[in-house]
Amino acid sequence: MANIPATHSYQNPLGTLAPRVRFAPSPTGYLHVGGARTALFNWLYARHFGGKLVLRIEDTDAQRSTEEMVEGILQGMRWLGLDWDEGPYFQSKRLEMYQDAAARLLQTGHAYYCFCAKEELEKRRAIATAEGRAPKYEGTCRKIPQEEAARRRAAGETAVLRFAVPQSGSTGFDDAVFGRVEFSNSELEDFVLLRSDGGPTYHLSVVTDDVDMKISHVVRGADHISNTPKQVLLYQAMSAPLPVFAHVPLILGPDKTRLSKRHGATSVMAYREEGIVPEGFRNFLALLGWTPAEGTPEVMGDAELIRLFGLEGISRSNAVFDRAKLDWFNTEYIRNYPAEKLLPLIKEEWEKAGLKPQAADHSDDWLLAAINLLKTRARSLKDFAHSFRAYFTDDFSADPAAVAKFLKDETLFPQLAELAELYALSPEFTEASAEKILRDFAAGKNLKAGTLINASRVALTGQGVAPSLFAVMVLLGKTRTVDRLKTAGSLAGRAPA
Ligand code: GLU
Repeated sequence: MANIPATHSYQNPLGTLAPRVRFAPSPTGYLHVGGARTALFNWLYARHFGGKLVLRIEDTDAQRSTEEMVEGILQGMRWLGLDWDEGPYFQSKRLEMYQDAAARLLQTGHAYYCFCAKEELEKRRAIATAEGRAPKYEGTCRKIPQEEAARRRAAGETAVLRFAVPQSGSTGFDDAVFGRVEFSNSELEDFVLLRSDGGPTYHLSVVTDDVDMKISHVVRGADHISNTPKQVLLYQAMSAPLPVFAHVPLILGPDKTRLSKRHGATSVMAYREEGIVPEGFRNFLALLGWTPAEGTPEVMGDAELIRLFGLEGISRSNAVFDRAKLDWFNTEYIRNYPAEKLLPLIKEEWEKAGLKPQAADHSDDWLLAAINLLKTRARSLKDFAHSFRAYFTDDFSADPAAVAKFLKDETLFPQLAELAELYALSPEFTEASAEKILRDFAAGKNLKAGTLINASRVALTGQGVAPSLFAVMVLLGKTRTVDRLKTAGSLAGRAPA
């Protein structure tokens, strides 16, 4: 076990030294933000304690399970850099195991066949709801003697298999986040284990797998708390030790309702499309429901997250997905990334935007210098293909607001053209010489240097804000600087000077 802060307690009911955790998504076609956060917490926990992360696809609902549906999940995990140690296992390939487990539960008297017709059950549920009672299977078939049930089954009568929940007492567990959680057994209904087609339900497959895969810690969304007592009963019926359960708080939108499409993208890959860097997203996700020790800076790379993560820091209160915070993380990560690391990510953005830096005069060294100049101003990787477009191609247009603010006055165009001539004639072209030329020119013309600087900035970059103008000039080079100053009028949508 590597470098565990003293505050991190570790218990493993299975007795193994390192934890075995799992991420068990349904194949929904994409990795949901909530799922990604669950995957991340499991990954951090496994990495912190040198354990194993098992990836299991819960695809017993065969209609939904296609290769693309699974691929969408894997893609999201790969983008976030969440590698798994085992799997993916597919529940659809393990059906026999669930059926065997069900048969054992039947044998040991923990389960029984239920022949009640679906329509009849629905009717009774509707009545219960109408009368203000929680709908619950009334246990009609529990009274059928086993031999009779076996006979009816053998005669081909369809049935589901239900778990026989104890009729008194309570079932509970010690949740690593929520503490002791207890449900009265009278609140739990005799839940279905096998459907009439023989397919397992979620409760049966999840517990059979978690037992078989020796999962020591079940870290998952708090929406599963109410499922847990049923699963605890299954562990007990299977004589298997309970894992540690750690339910992590839900992620809400800013309006405090559960995060959904109404709040923006819920698919992790949509954030990649928006120009978010994966480590920034990971850092942001880690803090949705987990707080490290006081005084820890919010920006934490992988190693730091792994070192600090523990179940103790997981909060019980729901987390709010704050988009502005995500953008802040993204800005921090882009600013601190070496340009070499940004370049391949930015190249993807150029490709998406159909932007091709002029290969002949934009060597990788030049691109790296440009990225270094710009990265402190980027909010997203997309900026490099959009608001920073003029740095990488001559095919750009000007931001109309910047033109309206700084290039409105037509008398500026001949001035800029004259200034361009001075640059063209100057043998030296450094930040200092470029600045001196502009300031001397402004003084000679009785113009404000600031007015010329602002106008030149728009002429050179199409934008009203940019890094230091003279650094931009040197980066673009003399030829581009001269050309763009000369053609400022047409950039501003005026007739050429
Ligand atoms: N397939 C379940 C889900 O996606 C996993 C539940 C669990 O982790 O036990 O919610």
